[in-house]
Amino acid sequence: MPITKTDARVDINQRRIINGADADVIQLYPIKHKFAWEAYNVGNANHWLPTEISMQKDIEQWRSPDVLSADERQALKTVLGFFTTGDSIAANNIVLATYRHVTSPECRMYLLRQGYEEAIHTHSYQYIVESLGLDEGEIFNMYREVDAIYNKDAFVLSFNEGIFDPNFKTGTLEADQKFVENLVIFSLVMEGIFFYSSFAVMFGFQRQNKMVGSAEQIQYIMRDESQHLNFGINLINTIKEEEPAIWTPEFQNHIVDLVKTGVNLESTFAREVFPKGIFGMNADGFRQYIEYIGDRRLARLGLPAQSHSTNPFPWMSEIVDLNKEKNFFETRVIEYQTGGTLEW
Ligand code: FE
Repeated sequence: MPITKTDARVDINQRRIINGADADVIQLYPIKHKFAWEAYNVGNANHWLPTEISMQKDIEQWRSPDVLSADERQALKTVLGFFTTGDSIAANNIVLATYRHVTSPECRMYLLRQGYEEAIHTHSYQYIVESLGLDEGEIFNMYREVDAIYNKDAFVLSFNEGIFDPNFKTGTLEADQKFVENLVIFSLVMEGIFFYSSFAVMFGFQRQNKMVGSAEQIQYIMRDESQHLNFGINLINTIKEEEPAIWTPEFQNHIVDLVKTGVNLESTFAREVFPKGIFGMNADGFRQYIEYIGDRRLARLGLPAQSHSTNPFPWMSEIVDLNKEKNFFETRVIEYQTGGTLEW
């Protein structure tokens, strides 16, 4: 977009998440959407890299014939099979869809940070696969070969149709709803539901003092992902305020249906990949947990609970709460190179 020479200052009351002024997208200040700037700062404060975490104990346990059962080995490979491509799917949507249509520069700042975090997560899975000497071809192909993973990914990717079209533009009721539908799928369903039975399995390992290096990385990833989810929910709720016409009863019902489909796909995934259950979590427990998570996501958008399930894995909430308090992060001492320490 060319700029126009003008003395008129940006009026932040004109700034919008979508459908804002074209010239406004490159001027960060004055900020209107403060949640985005806060999320950007939290993301920076939480910075981490997978290679800072030792995989030595995991490697010894993986090589030992008697630490992990056959079911546990298969479970670790299957959750990695979902994870390895999940964050790449999320990253593509941020760069190729969300960023293009968001017209708030502070939101774009956070999306740049979020995109980098998705890359760190993919790096983390690669680091685990490589450290344990797993077959990369097997793990990285699972999204095309294992039904339960394929069905989740195919569902999510179907919502890129239309949005990835270079001619797609927000600004009509239909297009704005299509954009919000994409946010719901990627934030609430992909980042907010589809990762959670795999997260639970990884913390099952951790609670048995197994694969602790892998699990610690997943803990950092879950902390990042809960920020991504928060940001996505803030985007959607702010668009609801700025473009109230989109929030029709029909559209609200449609969103509830999308979340219900997500809950079903994730429960099916857990049932198919852990048919005998794992670490005391069985198919009913997973379903109840995923339903509970689904209700919580809907509540954040002001939509009604569908299952009224209670949380059968209260220890998962403790892990999430720890993330919020950032206490566990203090176990790690890392110095990052800053401008002052670089030598030229
Ligand atoms: Fe994410």
